[in-house]
Amino acid sequence: MIQVDQALSIIAENSSKMPVKKIKVSKSLGFILAEAIYSPIDMPPFRQSAMDGYAFVHSELSTFSVVSSSQAGDYSNLKLGLNEAIRIFTGAYVPDDADTVVMQEHTTATGSSVHIDILPVPLSNVRNKGEQIEKGKLVLDKNTIITSAAIGFFACLGISEIKVYSKPKVAILVTGNELVKVGKKLPKGKIYESNSVMLEAALKQVGIKKTIVFRVKDNLKATSKMVESCLAHFDVILISGGISVGDYDFVKEALLQNGVEELFYKINQKPGKPLFFGKKEEKLVFALPGNPASSLTCFYVYALPALKKRLGFTDIHLPKMNRKITTDFHNNTGKTLFLKGFYNDVCVTVLESQSSAMLNTFAVANCFIYVPHTVANIQENQEIQIIPFN
Ligand code: AMP
Ligand code: MG
Repeated sequence: MIQVDQALSIIAENSSKMPVKKIKVSKSLGFILAEAIYSPIDMPPFRQSAMDGYAFVHSELSTFSVVSSSQAGDYSNLKLGLNEAIRIFTGAYVPDDADTVVMQEHTTATGSSVHIDILPVPLSNVRNKGEQIEKGKLVLDKNTIITSAAIGFFACLGISEIKVYSKPKVAILVTGNELVKVGKKLPKGKIYESNSVMLEAALKQVGIKKTIVFRVKDNLKATSKMVESCLAHFDVILISGGISVGDYDFVKEALLQNGVEELFYKINQKPGKPLFFGKKEEKLVFALPGNPASSLTCFYVYALPALKKRLGFTDIHLPKMNRKITTDFHNNTGKTLFLKGFYNDVCVTVLESQSSAMLNTFAVANCFIYVPHTVANIQENQEIQIIPFN
């Protein structure tokens, strides 16, 4: 049995980045950049008006004749005399001669002339060429997550394809004779199967949208065959149940039969002690305990960082924060605890039911309260670490 920190290091060391692929910028939301991107153009590509108004050569003059007009998309580079201005609109090309734009609200137009009521300082309201980014400068660095704004930024620079890390193909393999699919009648002795939909939803939180769920009875041969097929087709396999020490728990044996290298089995923690982590080539296998709260705890704390590493994230662990606890708490287990908690801006409360079999309080929790195995007593109002997960 190992401690939580050791398990996290083993996962980080053994999870490799997925291969790099080229994709359309329009399809890249949530991917991680696998290359640094440099700008192919100056942005703006020319001097642009930042206002609707008049472009002119700055001087002490206040009345100008309006000799032309330029709207966004036009190109005209006429020569302006000292007492000449052009009508100009936001985003339009500013003639090379003109150095300043006065906003329309600060002028009075009469016929073909305009009077400047409030003279702006020289160079006002002109966006310079390359002001946002110059040609050849860094747009976004390798390992940056692609957001909506990043997609917009790429598009405004004319970039249509980028290299990103592929998303891992994830299989969920559910074991258990007692499990019935939601929607079917519940016979005596059976329970509804809930881990697969829960894990699918949690995977969506990191942008893994297409997951395939397989189901197998508690039978070594069937489990081993299913493991073999999952290893052939998927990058990460999440197995639910069958990893404990009962007579009908066959997952570990099935994994070893298929050449999965055991990297750890069992962590000194509650819930989620019987977690198995293994690897075959670059493929990762997490055999999560079947108890629903244990399963999701192990997913957040261990599987999620591994998936983030595979996706190309550099920051892979759930961030921790400090909050004051609202009650005394005693840990007489000698294990690290991941308690279901609810935090707000100032404090955190330990929720009532902490059973690894139950999701009733997990469903309203917004964090784990992290109690290291070395800590036995926590006093009310003491600052403790929490791990938000929603
Ligand atoms: P196991 O880890 O297979 O021994 O399962 C531990 C407990 O979790 C048992 O009470 C199972 O019935 C329950 N369980 C296992 N898998 C699931 C699942 N997919 N959905 C809901 N409960 C499950
Ligand atoms: Mg089972």
